[in-house]
Amino acid sequence: MKNAELLARSLAAVWHPCTQMKQHETLPLIPIARGEGVWLYDFDGNRYLDAVSSWWVNLFGHANPRINAAVKDQLDRLEHVILAGFTHEPVVQLSERLSRLTGLGHAFYGSDGASATEIALKMSFHFWRNSGKPEKTQFVSLQNSYHGETVGALSVTDVALFKDTYAPLLRQSVQVPSPDWRLAEAGETAAAYAARCLKALERHLQAWHATTAAFIVEPLLQGAAGMAMYHPEYLKGARALCDRYGVHLIADEIAVGFGRTGTLFACEQAGIRPDFLCLSKGITGGYLPLSVVLTTDTVYQAFYDDRLARGFLHSHSYTGNALACRAALATLDIFEQDDVLHRNRDTAAKLTQALQPVAQHAAVRNFRHLGMIWAFEIETDDALFGRKFYQAALERGLLLRPIGNTVYFMPPYVIEEAEMNFLARTTIGLLERLI
Ligand SMILES: *Cc1c(COP(=O)(O)O)cnc(C)c1O
Repeated sequence: MKNAELLARSLAAVWHPCTQMKQHETLPLIPIARGEGVWLYDFDGNRYLDAVSSWWVNLFGHANPRINAAVKDQLDRLEHVILAGFTHEPVVQLSERLSRLTGLGHAFYGSDGASATEIALKMSFHFWRNSGKPEKTQFVSLQNSYHGETVGALSVTDVALFKDTYAPLLRQSVQVPSPDWRLAEAGETAAAYAARCLKALERHLQAWHATTAAFIVEPLLQGAAGMAMYHPEYLKGARALCDRYGVHLIADEIAVGFGRTGTLFACEQAGIRPDFLCLSKGITGGYLPLSVVLTTDTVYQAFYDDRLARGFLHSHSYTGNALACRAALATLDIFEQDDVLHRNRDTAAKLTQALQPVAQHAAVRNFRHLGMIWAFEIETDDALFGRKFYQAALERGLLLRPIGNTVYFMPPYVIEEAEMNFLARTTIGLLERLI
């Protein structure tokens, strides 16, 4: 009863994100009453395994007791305070810890991922302006990249479905070839293809460095592109090219930060440090909106001046929110106390093993895995495959959101063996039925 009632009221009053609302005439909308671990429960007693970590944000399960306790404790001390002219313990501690973990000592906070992208783009441009190079106004990104959907972030995003409608509102930006190894030629290795893509980046920077402020990139994995994975050599080469041509490197680790790719940050696998590191999504364990842009002393010093306008006069009302920072601290505590990166290697090996029948299915292409992310394409002519798969999975208690014909798993790190087997078994069942 409660399910049906909330569904109707939500459709009447809530405009849901990334949705053609009319599709809800046939697609179910699922009211969720509570969450626990990897499970989401509706009001009728059905449960759904959250195999997409609620849009890639959840790391340690829903209603995690340790994060709950930290947020509750913070709630009775300080929920929020203006961060201009004031500071508080959680934001100081979080900034210090992120600095130790990344080697980037200055933390500027936003609310969502897209706001972090906006901050990094503006900061890069403003750095060059403060450094006597106001002509460096252009940004370069990868083909099929995703950096968020506010107007500035959408300008460097390259997903036609999200972008084309708004083209007249956007700044021009340049896209260089993506090192996504699915785009390699037959017989070409991921590393060789990455090297070929670097040549294209090099040609672009060689010609345009004088007017280019930054190259923004999703390290190792282009999520919205369909979990496209690429060789770390590309990042290494991109860092060297950005150094050579005096262009900033912005690493958008909004999706891949906090252990998703197997290391705490994806850039570590290439042994590089970006000029700007954008973090969000998993930063609070999936609890509260928070984003941060971490940057270098060099960037920071270019703004440090007696003149007001040389400062970075950007703000969001909830910047550095105390509850969100406290959730982030609790999340980092779990990483340390539970040796999460090490444990995830074990979890990943088990899930990869459980998914072998999926990998070997006749309709499955490009089965791939990186850290705590698995993805594959389904060979199908059915243009509605994604929707059908989504709906059929829900009917079996599994929350998946295919991107086109790419099916992926990005489960919370706390997924247990029985849950992995359920995920694998259910997926196989869906392939047998739908393909
Ligand atoms: C999700 C995402 C963003 C945008 O974050 P929001 O919080 O949705 O605004 C930006 N970049 C990448 C790589 C993302 O995955």
